[in-house]
Amino acid sequence: MIYLDHNASTPVRPEVAAAIRACLEDVHGNASSLHREGQRARSAVETARAQVAALVKARPSEVVFVSGGTEGDHLALVGGAWAMGSDPHRVAISAIEHHAVHGAAEVLHDHGFAVEHLPVDANGVLDREALERMPVDTSLMAVMLANNETGAIQPVAEVAAFAHRRGARLLCDAVQAAGKVPVDAAALDADYLVISGHKIGGPKGAGALIVRRDAPLAPLFRGSGHEGGRRGGTENVPGIVGLGLAAELAASDLEQETARLTALRDRLEAAILSAAPDAVIHARRAPRLPNTVNASFPGARSDAMLMALDARGIAVSAGAACASGAVEPSPVLSAMGVPRELAVCAIRFSVGRTTTTSEIDRVAALLPEALQAARAATPVVA
Ligand code: PLP
Repeated sequence: MIYLDHNASTPVRPEVAAAIRACLEDVHGNASSLHREGQRARSAVETARAQVAALVKARPSEVVFVSGGTEGDHLALVGGAWAMGSDPHRVAISAIEHHAVHGAAEVLHDHGFAVEHLPVDANGVLDREALERMPVDTSLMAVMLANNETGAIQPVAEVAAFAHRRGARLLCDAVQAAGKVPVDAAALDADYLVISGHKIGGPKGAGALIVRRDAPLAPLFRGSGHEGGRRGGTENVPGIVGLGLAAELAASDLEQETARLTALRDRLEAAILSAAPDAVIHARRAPRLPNTVNASFPGARSDAMLMALDARGIAVSAGAACASGAVEPSPVLSAMGVPRELAVCAIRFSVGRTTTTSEIDRVAALLPEALQAARAATPVVA
């Protein structure tokens, strides 16, 4: 299988798998226990905290371990809003946020909050002019660092400055950016920043929320004061150890890996345009992640193209959701103003640490026949 779905989940690094295994076999204590076994678990957690902090240039004390991106986004948005006393009752999120942030905003909506959606331009980047029209009584905003579907990088530092001028707080979901581009929590100045283990070569079910020193936060899970009272629950020590090592390794190869991924991405884009000169690459003019290509192949519906590629041993992600036979365009592409007939033909290719040049060349060789098969299988009316 040629795996080009690294934005969905990227393989665990072998060193990380070994560290998790060693921890499972050897570290038995509860990190809250005072005896020596407990202290060994605590020490493993604190080492990981420093490793995660280093990846995003935060302070270890700002790192709260959570179960992944979805929980981190919920803890920041819901826990942040609750801690602010829910007055005023208004939050604003970019229209292209991940479902995890939309879901957290829905929780707030169910609790009586007004939720604004901030528009993006045709390149998938937050519309700065529209931002100025955001209601002045907004207390919390969410703008992701890089979009999971298009890779478009958002002007987070600028939005943080805007939010702070207005007396609002900012959540930055950096789940897709971390490990692919430099992430500097202090320079971005977001109040809350989220990363997830399984997007950086670590395990699924482990992530971190970085809470700036003065940012308010009410815990969603109340327990015995774990994570400085910010997240109750016995720490997932093996998962945290894996996340920490993945963060350290991602930081150490970042520069080299960014250059390598960019070259693979550019090679893939050239192959796409050669197989389908009418293909449209979304967010191509935006600053983008080095690893993501979101392309629409006119006349080949996303589901048909995904299956045609899968049948040829290539794993990608559909840029449109398929539910009971009907295809719905992605809300991200719709927010960018991509016409429906093009949006339902979108495919996301995402390269990663295990991708090689020869894999991309194999994809280039197979794309024309996959496209032909997908076009033949696509109903005339999409
Ligand atoms: N945020 C973004 C931008 C993502 O891409 C994802 C996962 O795809 C998440 C949040 C959710 O992370 P997790 O799968 O760790 O819950």
